[in-house]
Amino acid sequence: MANKRSGLVCSMCGATDCSSNPVVKVLDGLNLCTDCIKFIDDARDTQLNNSGRDKEKALAESTAIPKPIEIKEFLDQYIIGQEEAKKYLSVAVYNHYKRIQQKDSKDDVDIEKSNVILVGPTGTGKTLLAKTIARLLDVPFAIVDATVLTEAGYVGEDIESLLTRLLQACDYDVERAEKGIVFIDEIDKIARKSDNPSITRDVSGEGVQQGLLKLLEGSTVLVPPNGGRKHPEQKMIAVDTKNILFICGGAFDGIERKIASRLNTHVVGYGHDENNRKRQRENLMRYVMPQDLKSFGLIPEIIGRLPILTSLDPLDKVALRRILTEPKNAIVRQYKKIFLLDGVELIFTDDALDLIVDKAVEYKLGARGLRSIVETIMVDAMFEVPSQPVKTFTVDAAYALGKLEKAHFEKMEISDK
Ligand code: ADP
Repeated sequence: MANKRSGLVCSMCGATDCSSNPVVKVLDGLNLCTDCIKFIDDARDTQLNNSGRDKEKALAESTAIPKPIEIKEFLDQYIIGQEEAKKYLSVAVYNHYKRIQQKDSKDDVDIEKSNVILVGPTGTGKTLLAKTIARLLDVPFAIVDATVLTEAGYVGEDIESLLTRLLQACDYDVERAEKGIVFIDEIDKIARKSDNPSITRDVSGEGVQQGLLKLLEGSTVLVPPNGGRKHPEQKMIAVDTKNILFICGGAFDGIERKIASRLNTHVVGYGHDENNRKRQRENLMRYVMPQDLKSFGLIPEIIGRLPILTSLDPLDKVALRRILTEPKNAIVRQYKKIFLLDGVELIFTDDALDLIVDKAVEYKLGARGLRSIVETIMVDAMFEVPSQPVKTFTVDAAYALGKLEKAHFEKMEISDK
């Protein structure tokens, strides 16, 4: 551990002055650590090198697709942990775009599409992974929810309407949409309700999976421009899905039981020890295989079209704490920036950050809850501080707890999404 020295705190990243990363006073009310100074210098150099274009754009615009390691490094800046998922996704995306760029090859080797399925508890970063990838590649990106889809003729949205969002994301530029990325959330919710395929009609399950197949494998489909249901008078837009990358995500609650029975182990181990069960659940998810998805109710054809299968880990306190401060657009950084725009240095003490994490865990809110907790703590300060003649504002645990109690945070309904 490096020694604390002057007690100065970097206004940009919140690092405390130490010998490995000294913090210096740059202007009145503005302190910067060596890492952030270097970061600003590098950013300026890159800007000069790229004559004004920023690095991400330059990467995206160049015909050379970023290499898997570069993609992973980019993801690392925004997503904490989930090493395996990041690696799999980086490879899948790289191969996908290489495949698209490949001109007609002379041999008969046809590289198949590498759609991805991410399995992991809600709020662990599945959507964030997909969103961040799309940002790096500067391609149209849409998030769609599988639960709204139903078979044609039933209440709900037609399967093709998945692509409406993608078209809308690029102002109906079909050519761009055809190289986009679609993230299909809650894919587990369209699982067949029973493992028995002879079950009678299953409107939101198997029928939808059959419909999705067509999209996943690559074919030309007619998309209703405004989504929803198709109707005869409507002019449809033809979209070829051959080069659209589909990333599916789902929590697959209960899949660990299927994994356990395949591995011939018992999920509920000795007695009813909650920690023990939790640990087993965490470990089991890592062994997820295509056959477990089948036992869960996905049809084999769909599973075959989602060849890259990887899992995400649940987030523990250490991960949540890192999520608060480390990602490039971490919540704490965002609030610091808001205050800095008013010339005020915002400081969160370590015990305040620990409290925020503890509350997120206590109320089972996960990473998604971090923002609502911080917002509840900060709303009074954001209301008052701009009118006050202060240069710094410190949030410690006592202040944070006071604000949460005043807002009756424990009684607030925080939706999962
Ligand atoms: P889901 O797995 O349900 O798709 P999301 O990706 O939507 O979860 O995560 C919800 C929010 O939680 C994200 O927008 C992000 O702020 C935060 N988050 C979740 N996991 C991570 C992570 N591994 N690293 C950084 N932030 C995360």
